[in-house]
Amino acid sequence: MRRHRHAKIVATVGPASSSPEMLKALFQAGVDTFRLNFSHGGRDDHARVHAAIRALEREVGCPIGILQDLQGPKIRLGTLQGGGFRIETGERVRFVLEGHDGDRDAIPLPHPEIFKAVTPGQELLIDDGRVRVQVTGLSNDAIEAEVSVGGAISNRKGVNLPGTLLDISPLTQKDRDDLAFGLELGVDWVALSFVQTPSDVLEGRGLIGDRAGLMVKIEKPQALDRIGDIIRLSDSVMVARGDLGVEIPPEDVPGRQKELIRACRVAAKPVIVATQMLDSMVAAPTPTRAEASDVATAIFDGADAVMLSAESAAGRYPVEAVAMMDRIIRRTEAHRLYPSLVAASEPGDEESPPHAVATAASGLAESIHASAIVAFTLSGTTAARSARRRSTVPILAMTPSETVSRQLCLLWGTQSVRSDDIVSYEEMVDHASEQALRHGYARSHQFIVVVAGIPFGRAGSTNNLRVLEIP
Ligand code: PGA
Ligand code: MN
Repeated sequence: MRRHRHAKIVATVGPASSSPEMLKALFQAGVDTFRLNFSHGGRDDHARVHAAIRALEREVGCPIGILQDLQGPKIRLGTLQGGGFRIETGERVRFVLEGHDGDRDAIPLPHPEIFKAVTPGQELLIDDGRVRVQVTGLSNDAIEAEVSVGGAISNRKGVNLPGTLLDISPLTQKDRDDLAFGLELGVDWVALSFVQTPSDVLEGRGLIGDRAGLMVKIEKPQALDRIGDIIRLSDSVMVARGDLGVEIPPEDVPGRQKELIRACRVAAKPVIVATQMLDSMVAAPTPTRAEASDVATAIFDGADAVMLSAESAAGRYPVEAVAMMDRIIRRTEAHRLYPSLVAASEPGDEESPPHAVATAASGLAESIHASAIVAFTLSGTTAARSARRRSTVPILAMTPSETVSRQLCLLWGTQSVRSDDIVSYEEMVDHASEQALRHGYARSHQFIVVVAGIPFGRAGSTNNLRVLEIP
């Protein structure tokens, strides 16, 4: 099924969208990749949704991506007296490592790493930063703090520590178990939450190997400090604005979003902009003007994909939210300023032959008005490199790997098709014209540009360009 837009849509599945009928309606409205959020829901629920998406994929006959999002080391309060209470600005409170039903002198915070890492003066943000306390003193088993912004706190509310590098693995025991479960199911992407350092990515890679693509969620300021290495070591990136906007000031998020998108485009790694994009559509059938503008901004920046969270997982209007996103993307991509705005953040000079060949493919395709770029790709990198320039010529990616064809459902401007292993140049040429015709990417006497790495069967070696006229 060919969609008439370049940027992709990721939708989170939840109670509002987990039935086979809803999944199909969401796909038809425009979802390219479904996100299974392992912060919520049981394994059985996720397994059922996974099976329903794979059944839908067979029914519609084109690849659909599945992204497993691991919860990560989300820090939470323990349980509080009466389920919760207010703490007032200026009041003194105490956090302790253990205990239940705590009061203001013994608020349980069952995370020993925090007690090791915090220092006086640092802030703890509770419930997405709605309540803030400043650390005034510490001992091995207690943190003394003064409330800087008062408010209600309740059982298991999230805690963010923006200024602190915590000595914790990005994968908790629950994450490791969930990951094993997801890989067994056969997810296409795994997202690691709260990544802080390049070694966190390596730790994830050690467990995932090449069984799924590794996505890093950028939601900690510590990750921004080492972002070059973190992007280099991962396969894709999510700009996770929900937690990021708690950990850094909200006014810094838009600039960081632009930096991250640009860095990912330079590295030819798919990048998703996530969270609160159409948030008011959780409860209303139309978005605010500011939300429509937010989606459009991500598209003008050249993001590969935009994402829905609560809108599709738990909202009242999941299908409408997807349809709205689809319309905003198409409208934005058709705007007369779009080519110049998206080009403004184009990656600079090409530093390696594979990148240069793929860039040449998209330049060449534009200048001869080719109807498509056909990219033969084993690992997905030839396709990603070809998409880097955001040329208006659509990309048809041919890959023998089912997982890669599903992973490419995240890549800008690309539709993927599974092909048999190609062994000869002639076979590649035949296959390219045949598939371009079959999928509506070319008609007789139109040109296509074929890009590949030769010899076949070696990933990452983009080195060959061929112009073909369809007979
Ligand atoms: P989450 O991640 O929805 O799992 O918190 C996304 C974000 O923080 O923006
Ligand atoms: Mn998050």
